[in-house]
Amino acid sequence: MKPSPTDDLCTRCGLCCDGSLFADVELARRDNSAVLESLGLEIEEDGERANAELLVQPCAALRNCRCTIYAHRPGCCRTFECQVLQAVRRGTLSSAAAHATIAEAFTRIDAVRTRVRQLGPVEEQLSLRDQCTDAVARADEDSRPQIKTSADQLESALADLEHWLHSEFLRPIKSSAPAARRKRTPSEA
Ligand code: SF4
Ligand code: SF4
Repeated sequence: MKPSPTDDLCTRCGLCCDGSLFADVELARRDNSAVLESLGLEIEEDGERANAELLVQPCAALRNCRCTIYAHRPGCCRTFECQVLQAVRRGTLSSAAAHATIAEAFTRIDAVRTRVRQLGPVEEQLSLRDQCTDAVARADEDSRPQIKTSADQLESALADLEHWLHSEFLRPIKSSAPAARRKRTPSEA
């Protein structure tokens, strides 16, 4: 039997849960953060919304591109579908083309991770953006010109990557617009 687009793509992707597309997930009031924390997830207060909470990414429930708390996952994880998945569902993008886009995303992400590692140790539990922010902050305290150059190149590479990821997986954005860093319900993504 032919796999569903979710089984076909998401189980070999995980980019919307591993801190590549988003730095965090916006929890709804009905999401039970105590239950989510008891399942091992990291929850923090939302500095932008009163009495609101965020699920930090990379998500601790992600294992081998699968959600290990699938039955208990937050509301926006249930409703979120990236642009690639939606296009395959609609029949406007082939499975092969979708897999090629996901593979290209991994290649581009690896290239940025390589730049981060060149600037020092990496905290793997952080989102890619946070890893880059830490690396650039360390470089700012380093007086060596080549480190400054590497940090500038990293910031540029991250901006290019985020723009590409947003355009391919979320929706096209104007070149001057910042990329979204929060996983929200589809209408807000
Ligand atoms: S980014 Fe898209 S294809 Fe990848 S896991 Fe998320 S919804 Fe599935
Ligand atoms: S709870 Fe599951 S679906 Fe939601 S971010 Fe974590 S791994 Fe992904």
